[in-house]
Parts: sequence; structure tokens; C-alpha cells
Amino acid sequence: MKRLIGEDKVLSDEIDLLCYSFDSSFMAKLNRFLPDVVVTPLSTEDVMKVVGYAYEHEIPIIPRGAGTGETCGAVALGGGIVMDLSLWDNIIEIDAANMQALMRPGVIHAKLNERLARFGLFFPPDPGSTRMCTIGGMVANNASGLKAVKYGSTEQYVLGLDVVLPTGELITTGGVGARTVKNVSGLNLTKLFVGSEGILGIITMIRLKVLPKPKGRGIVMAAFSDLNHAPATVLRVYRQGILPSCIEILDSSAITAVNTYRPELELPDAEAILLFEVDGSPQGVEEEGAEIARIAKEQAVLVEWATEPKRMMGLWEARSVLATAAAKLRPDGTRIFAGEDISVPLSKVTDALRGIRALSLEYGIRVVNFGHIGDGNVHTAPVLDPESPEEVEQAKLLVDAIHRLAIRLGGSTTGEHGVGAVRIEYANEEHGAALSVMQSIKSALDPKGIMNPGKLIPCSATPRE
Ligand SMILES: Cc1cc2nc3c(=O)[nH]c(=O)nc-3n(C[C@H](O)[C@H](O)[C@H](O)COP(=O)(O)OP(=O)(O)OC[C@H]3O[C@@H](n4cnc5c(N)ncnc54)[C@H](O)[C@@H]3O)c2cc1C
Repeated sequence: MKRLIGEDKVLSDEIDLLCYSFDSSFMAKLNRFLPDVVVTPLSTEDVMKVVGYAYEHEIPIIPRGAGTGETCGAVALGGGIVMDLSLWDNIIEIDAANMQALMRPGVIHAKLNERLARFGLFFPPDPGSTRMCTIGGMVANNASGLKAVKYGSTEQYVLGLDVVLPTGELITTGGVGARTVKNVSGLNLTKLFVGSEGILGIITMIRLKVLPKPKGRGIVMAAFSDLNHAPATVLRVYRQGILPSCIEILDSSAITAVNTYRPELELPDAEAILLFEVDGSPQGVEEEGAEIARIAKEQAVLVEWATEPKRMMGLWEARSVLATAAAKLRPDGTRIFAGEDISVPLSKVTDALRGIRALSLEYGIRVVNFGHIGDGNVHTAPVLDPESPEEVEQAKLLVDAIHRLAIRLGGSTTGEHGVGAVRIEYANEEHGAALSVMQSIKSALDPKGIMNPGKLIPCSATPRE
């Protein structure tokens, strides 16, 4: 590797390898997945040389952004080369006239939006990891966040990609010279690579569509004494023709966690709290916010409507401190990322929340529930002592039961965080006959199975040890 791309771009000391042995998943906490070597390429040529070598010698190669993934996706399960793309982070162009941005994979999401804001633009998908995760990782995972209910996920914004295939060849998707926002020429390879979790190639350049940044924002908070009233209110808001930019739910477990951790936030003691955010022109925001507040008052025990930045920040704080609040529920425990991201049909969100509460009691593991109720993405935060083998075993059973609950409700084991290694066992159940088509695509592009093995879908080709 040092001969191929230069000594300064290769890490092989044990202490360095340890830093790359985990991501944010519980699975990585329980194991030590050491790579053999880490490379930090800074050009397409570097990437092509390393991938070409890995292909020739049948060595596993694992693309990695910031390692904030929650699925063991960016770690080397059986050794190999971890390719850290996070240092390759230049924004090449903000093409404001064509509402586009062109960048390398390591650009941090928040930094991109800071740059775009100078042009009155923004890239809407907004993961909670905004200050850490890379755009390359977001494209590979088709990431989204609070605003997906209105603005969708990363896939809606990717116009084209440069990808180094597992054979070391470079391709450009979306048209080699195209700067169009609309383009239906050829098979849509861009979509194939978005969400492919690094199993089909290394993304080395990204062209994103961006949008004008709305000038107005407002938030409605509504507290309910009956969990069923929360989805009913969401439905009534939709029926009025209003599409909020976020609709979040905190159930009683989340409210307790926040009130224990930050009592000064004084969340009402309720069965559920909804947070609606609306954005657009200031006048439109006023109208839609007032209408949502009116609808919520029909069933809520408390409703608040705010447009002042300080108060909005206060209201959002309850949502944003949740991860820490969950972790603080038990001084001897920690919040784990496992079974944390199921997605269910909108009509089944309350069934999912009640189901998870029942499973939490059955397996004796405390779980904090919240999520993006507007698009059915339920987040669960199991809290346990990871040093206790009994609790770890119970947690594994609980997580499996949560995943199966999602499938039973007509949903999926993951709405945004992806499959990686932690949800691969559900591939058959989730995809049926389509799984073999996915496997054929993987074999066609990666006949030796070197690219991020053991992730996303089970494959027959496995690289040499
Ligand atoms: C606190 C916290 C909050 C989070 N909130 C959200 C959220 O709201 N929404 C959401 O969707 N996710 C969320 N996540 C998960 C995670 O941040 C996202 O999946 C993110 O997109 C991962 O980016 P990354 O740069 O860290 O990628 P990594 O974790 O390094 O990699 C993720 C996957 O992408 C592949 N990959 C990375 N870069 C490339 C590349 N250039 N080419 C090919 N493959 C590549 C890796 O092989 C791996 O499979 C959260 C994580 C944390 C820790």
C-alpha cells in the first residue's frame, strides 16, 4: 500500500487499526473487527490503484466515511483494507445557477449546508449526525432524518456519481457531462449505487441537487393523554392539505427520560408529545402553524405554537437531547444502537410503539421510544449494562423481536440507518425472490466478492482470507 499511494496515506500500527475497528453499532461494541491496514486516499487515482490491487489479490476492501453508521457497515468483519474517505473532503463547486453542488465523498454534511447557506440554498436530508457524517456515507446509506417527511431522503437529491468499481474501473453515472436536474437517459445507475452500503463500489465524486432555503419556520408542540390521539392528529393535519417539514413523536418513555435528564425543559407529563415543524414563506408558516395548532387542540391536553428562534430551539431541545437522556436513565447502563430504526406503515405506528413496550417488559430491558411519526420511522433506544452477559443476551433477543415486529406490521427492519452486518439475516424475509436479483447484480459488478463483504445482502462469492 505504501508503494502504491505513499507512506503518509497508510496506517498499520495497532493503535490506528483499533480506531477503525468499530462504528456506532452495538455489534461493534461487542467485537473487535481489526482491519489489516487502513488507507486514506486523496485522489481518484489513489482509490483506483488500491481497489485494482485488492481485486487482483482478492483482498476485502471496506469503504468508510466518518464511521457514524449504526450497522457495522464500515468495519472489516474478516480483515482486509479499510479505505477511509473522510479526509478527501473538498467541495469542488457550488453551481447556484443550476441548483447543484459537486463534491468529494468526505465532505461533512453540516459543512456543506453552511457553504450552501451563503447562496440561500440547502441540501434537505438532515441526519442527527450532521456534524460528523460524510456525504459519501449518506449517499451509500441513503440517509435521511427529521425532514424526510417533506423532503425525502438522500436519493432524491443525487444527480450523478463517480464510482470506482470493485475491478478498479471508474464510471460516471447520471451522464458523463450532464448538469441537468432532469435526466431519464439510460438505466438509472445512480439509484443503484445510492443505498448500496459500499458493496458495489467506492463513491469518489457526488453531484447533488439542492433547494432554495425557506425563509420562515415555526413549531407546534402538542401533548396527548392518549397515545392513539397522536397519529389521529397527524392524519387530520395531512387531510387539511398541510405537509409539515418534520413531525416527531416522543412517547411516555421518552418524556420520562427527558424530564429526568433535563427537568428544566418541563415537558408535560403525557402519553405522547408531537412536534410539528412547518417551513416556507413567513406568511405561509403563520397560516399552517395556526391551522395545525387548531387541529391539535381538538384532542391534545396542551398545545403551543412558536416562531421565535429562542423558543423554537427550546422546544427542539427536548428532541435533540433524547439520545443522551436515554443513556442517563441508568447510571450503570448505556444506550445501545440495535433494533433502533424500524419503519412501519403510518397506520401502524401506535401498534409498533405498544408492541415495543410489551417486548421491553417481556425481555426485561428498558427501551425509550421516539421517532419520525410523519413517515413511520420509529426509533428505539434500549438501555442496558453492556458488561452484563445476561442483559446482552436478553437485548439480542429483544432486538430480534423488534425487527420481526416491524416485518409483521408490514414494515421494514430499517427506515434510514441501513442493513450492514446487523440486519443481513432478515434479507430473505424482507425481499423474497428479489434477493436473488440483488445477488446477481452484486456478482456481475463484484465477481470476487471483495467489496465490503458480509454487508447488506448475503453473497456466495467471498474473498480470500
Ligand atoms: C448520533 C447519530 C445520529 C444519527 N442520525 C441519523 C439520522 O437521523 N438519519 C440517518 O439516516 N442516519 C443517522 N445516523 C447514522 C449515520 O450517521 C448515517 O448512516 C450516515 O450516513 C453515515 O455516514 P458516515 O460518513 O459516518 O458513514 P460510515 O459509517 O463510515 O459508513 C456507512 C456505510 O457507507 C459506506 N460508505 C461510506 N463512504 C462510502 C463511499 N465513499 N463509497 C462507498 N461506500 C461508502 C460504508 O462502507 C458503510 O457501509 C446517525 C448516527 C449517529 C451516531
